[in-house]
Amino acid sequence: MKGRVEKMISVDIISGFLGSGKTTLIKQLVKKDHFKERVVIIENEFGEVGIDGLILRESNVAVKELNSGCICCTIVREFEKSIKEVIEQFKPERIIIEPSGVGKLSEVIRTFEIAELKEMVKIDKVITVVDVFNCELYLENFGEFFGNQIQHAKTVFLSRTQVATQIQIEETIHAIRGLNTQAHIVTTALENLKSQELSGRHMLQMVCADGCGCHHHSRQDHHHHADEFFEVWGTETKKVFTESVLRKILVTLSREEDFGLVLRGKGVLKVEDDVWTQFDYIPGEINISGMTSSEIGKICIIGRKLNRVHLEKLFCEQV
Ligand SMILES: [Zn+2]
Repeated sequence: MKGRVEKMISVDIISGFLGSGKTTLIKQLVKKDHFKERVVIIENEFGEVGIDGLILRESNVAVKELNSGCICCTIVREFEKSIKEVIEQFKPERIIIEPSGVGKLSEVIRTFEIAELKEMVKIDKVITVVDVFNCELYLENFGEFFGNQIQHAKTVFLSRTQVATQIQIEETIHAIRGLNTQAHIVTTALENLKSQELSGRHMLQMVCADGCGCHHHSRQDHHHHADEFFEVWGTETKKVFTESVLRKILVTLSREEDFGLVLRGKGVLKVEDDVWTQFDYIPGEINISGMTSSEIGKICIIGRKLNRVHLEKLFCEQV
């Protein structure tokens, strides 16, 4: 039969809450050239401005971006369609899925259980990246989403361990174990991962069958869609920033009374003629790093009860 897939395509799912370091991990995976296979990345951002895609595209691996919603809930059909298209177009041997930070891992896994996909793909790695510094905060406030990501992971990579204390790391592991007793937990800083830690040879396979009680098989009736819970504000801008102005702007984002609860900010911005920088913001951490290239500045903010007028003013008004 024409178009029939001879060999099963491996699928890796790299999940993690907003700003946990998923893209960093994927860049490591791709850079180490650990895959000798044809790889395609399907990248889902909860927001209309595709920024990670821009960053990942520098890695020379085909990247398919889905930015109009969350692949676990609001755009499930579009996700299924994209998987089929990507298989048709690129004939990949491996597909890496980066769900949005607010995606439920169980629901992303479920997508691959539909008959049509089941005969073409098999799920290999199921990874969740957990930020040591914000694990507790996220579990307390967004447990429905973040807890699900931990529960269904086969492997958990801790991020920002290089700047954490041993106690913080142990507390995070304890919290993870409360939700998932079986996952393999990797504490090596994402930037220092060696190929054996990425290869997954030692990654525990969680065997699960119908009725095992792990919730893989029961889509909950009352679960929230990401867009009922989280909001996105995004814009493109031609404004040129200086690094110090950008830093000041990012510091003020923590003022909930002015901007709402900002959980994640990222962007690519022009800092001087033909020099572009990217920024990352999560509660308690600001990163402005390196050079990249873009045609236009892009900013994406995710949070709750965002004040769009104030955000627009903050980023777009000439000072
Ligand atoms: Zn979702």
